[in-house]
Amino acid sequence: SVPPPADRLAGLNENQRRAVEHGSGQPAGPLLIIAGAGSGKTNTLAHRVAHLLAEGADPRRILLLTFSRRAASEMIRRVGQITAKVMGAKGATLSEGLTWAGTFHAIGARLLREYAYQIGLDPSFTIHDREDSADLINLVRYELGFSKTENRFPSKGTCLAIYSRVVNAQDDLENVLKEAFPWCLAWAAELRSLFAAYVEAKLANNVLDYDDLLLWWSHMVAEPMIAADISVRFDHVMVDEYQDTNRLQSSILKALKPDGKGVTVVGDDAQSIYSFRAATVRNILDFPAQFSPAAEIITLDRNYRSTQPILAAANAVIALASERFTKNLWTDRQSSERPQLVTVRDEAGQADFVAGQILENREAGMTLKQQAVLFRASHHSGPLEVELTRRNIPFVKFGGLKFLDASHVKDMLALLRWAQNPRDRVAGFRVLQLLPGVGPTSAANVLDAVGVDDIAALPAPPRAGADWPDFIELAASLHKGPSDWPGEIERVRRWYEPHLERMHEDAATRRADLLQLEQIAAGYESRERFLTELTLDPPDATSDEAGTPLRDEDYLILSTIHSAKGQEWKAVFVLNTVDGCLPADLAAGTKNDLEEERRLLYVAMTRARDSLHLVMPQRFFTHGQPSQGDRHVYANRTRFIPSSILDRFQQVMWPKVAASGTRQQSGIHSSIDLRDRMRGMWR
Ligand code: ATP
Ligand code: MG
Repeated sequence: SVPPPADRLAGLNENQRRAVEHGSGQPAGPLLIIAGAGSGKTNTLAHRVAHLLAEGADPRRILLLTFSRRAASEMIRRVGQITAKVMGAKGATLSEGLTWAGTFHAIGARLLREYAYQIGLDPSFTIHDREDSADLINLVRYELGFSKTENRFPSKGTCLAIYSRVVNAQDDLENVLKEAFPWCLAWAAELRSLFAAYVEAKLANNVLDYDDLLLWWSHMVAEPMIAADISVRFDHVMVDEYQDTNRLQSSILKALKPDGKGVTVVGDDAQSIYSFRAATVRNILDFPAQFSPAAEIITLDRNYRSTQPILAAANAVIALASERFTKNLWTDRQSSERPQLVTVRDEAGQADFVAGQILENREAGMTLKQQAVLFRASHHSGPLEVELTRRNIPFVKFGGLKFLDASHVKDMLALLRWAQNPRDRVAGFRVLQLLPGVGPTSAANVLDAVGVDDIAALPAPPRAGADWPDFIELAASLHKGPSDWPGEIERVRRWYEPHLERMHEDAATRRADLLQLEQIAAGYESRERFLTELTLDPPDATSDEAGTPLRDEDYLILSTIHSAKGQEWKAVFVLNTVDGCLPADLAAGTKNDLEEERRLLYVAMTRARDSLHLVMPQRFFTHGQPSQGDRHVYANRTRFIPSSILDRFQQVMWPKVAASGTRQQSGIHSSIDLRDRMRGMWR
């Protein structure tokens, strides 16, 4: 009843088809698909998975590594569509078996929990986000007497950044300092002992930070016995967006499949945008030669996503890069509409223009979901969010619920975390001090007494009074008792509410966040998965204050360019395409940083299918904080669109200046408010 391959491959071009069928009849050697934006890499990967399933592969034996949780579920959905189409009802459920799909970090966390006992780890470990990690490093810093004020020792954030880079780049400390943190070179010896102590603290606390998830995983698979055990569980390992992986990730892959059998990686070197997190484009370039015999390379050169004028403009931008990317993408999607470079007066004008254009698009039949607004930095969308709310345009902002950063949400999560792992001092500190009468010293005393198992027996802090028994009973039952997930989160909220009311005047609004948290929790199968995945990859924020996710409704997407990777929309708006925003931070940029910013613009532009607007406010407030009064700066068009390629764009001034016959639009500088500029020179 399995249909002939021809049906399954219908619609694919020849190279896509080769990639899908690569090694059919197994065992397949390593395969690299390296190809430009919108050429169908991800689509081909989905077809390859579907093809393998149709040929009888076990979905639970396919490891699918993507760059976000969203990308993983999107992949599963696409595979499901394809298998349903070619295999009918039987195929429809096959993709549900793809249980090993997710980010490197999330998959790492799952494997580490499973093998914890074999590698000296307690499986109840909790995961520290960047803020927790910085707190712990800070604690250690003070214990070692490297106090910042006296001797200008690097800040906790800098310490963590250095540590993280050493780990992810698999480089040594001196090199990292020389290359990226030269002003900290004098502290090399102290930093080394700080990091040693930080590692000890994490072990004592039974916590892993983000980097540990990769680091422990890579060390785990370097152990032949465990490696063998894990490797045989997966017949196929597939990685999308391989250009944005780091050294640790490539070493994990290599250890899992030393001969590359069953490995497929996919990516585009022109879209590498995570080197600031130690990702290295060398991974994808060096991939083929890593194996013997070398990996097969398939390239795709037809872009199916964008219209010809959009592709031409994006190609012109990337052609100016200092590296040579050798892909010549073509498309047969003709259009007479060039991408628009829109000059607006300021950020308010930008918000007004974008919101208006979005509604116009909707009038013309484009849903909100088919449109997206992209920006370099998360705070760039502030004024637009206000405008969208004012006009009642619902939106979802990718890349992190803001409310997860709110102290009351963290309080609640801290109890869950501490109950899971009483040795997690950062969580314990936070939750214990919610009790009236408990300060840092008595919290520390309690935490020092955390022994092997029984937290019900912990000594009550002297002034905790009547609040203690309820608290410790709840914590102990969460720790030991049978988990009734997600029901238990309601118990935590009920316990927390009186504290919330005592501490905050706006308790009612905060309570809404807690209810939303409860709703989100219901989507996870266990407390562990909830805590882990929430920390690693927070769900998206919605504009809906009431907290009901806007699942089926129509809504606009707001996203940083980084989080928009791999996706596409009919209409794309890019905010603040001016020097200082894109590229960001003129002062700090090295040549490599600048090249990465250029690729970022390229990624943004290649998200668009039919319509693309790059918006340039002529002036904006420094740091995007209107509160700084009229300290605005004047902006220039991004240097990545020099005059030599301006003809690829249609230049527009908004609002339109009344045509006066002689007056010409001249680039981005209109004559608006020159007086202000005269004054601005001396501010
Ligand atoms: P990116 O580099 O941005 O991640 P990509 O190479 O992964 O892009 P996809 O997202 O897989 O590209 O595909 C881009 C678009 O082209 C999608 O809408 C996809 O459905 C479409 N597409 C891919 N291959 C074909 C094909 N053979 N025929 C028609 N449409 C295709
Ligand atoms: Mg893709």
